[in-house]
Order: sequence, then structure tokens, then C-alpha cells
Amino acid sequence: MRSIRKILMDVSDRFIVLREMFRNPVSKPVTILYPDKKVPVPEGFRGRVEVIDENCIGCGRCAQVCPAKAITMVESPREIEVKGKKITRKKKAAGFAV
Ligand code: SF4
Repeated sequence: MRSIRKILMDVSDRFIVLREMFRNPVSKPVTILYPDKKVPVPEGFRGRVEVIDENCIGCGRCAQVCPAKAITMVESPREIEVKGKKITRKKKAAGFAV
């Protein structure tokens, strides 16, 4: 026997789903209107590598394993903290569009 609480939860869930079903067809899209509106891309563009500098510890593993060789290590000495220890990072990863 289902409890009244479970039954109320089911009704509540269904109400939420129904509300979304009726709201979606009339609401504006929240993303880029692809494929109706295409964003221009340069010839040969296959993607963009982005490195977040404050997260990079300069280990170089990304540059070692990148199959397109799109990541290189560049000089960028900076004090960083890794697992509670302060160390000096000598290089950082730098990505570019491939
Ligand atoms: S060098 Fe590459 S793999 Fe290493 S921390 Fe920086 S971004 Fe990550």
C-alpha cells in the first residue's frame, strides 16, 4: 500500500512534467539557434584548446598525450600550491586552435 506522501510526490512530479511540456513550445530557446543560425568558423578549424592557468601545475602530461600536438609547454614561473605544498611551477601548458 502506497503512503499518501508517495502519492502526493507522484502527483507533484507529474505536475512539474506537464508544466514543462506546455511551457517549452512557447518559450524562447536558451541556446544558440544552431543549425538555423550558424557561427562562422575559420577554414581548417577543428576546435580550440583552453588551458585554465590557475589550475595548471605544469606537469606537461597534456602536451605529451595530445594527438594533434595542439598543446605546448611555455615558460611561466609562478608560485603554486599543490596538495598543501608551495612549489614553483616552471612551465605552463598553452593551447592553440587546431
Ligand atoms: S601541464 Fe597540462 S596536464 Fe599538467 S596541469 Fe597543466 S594543463 Fe593539466
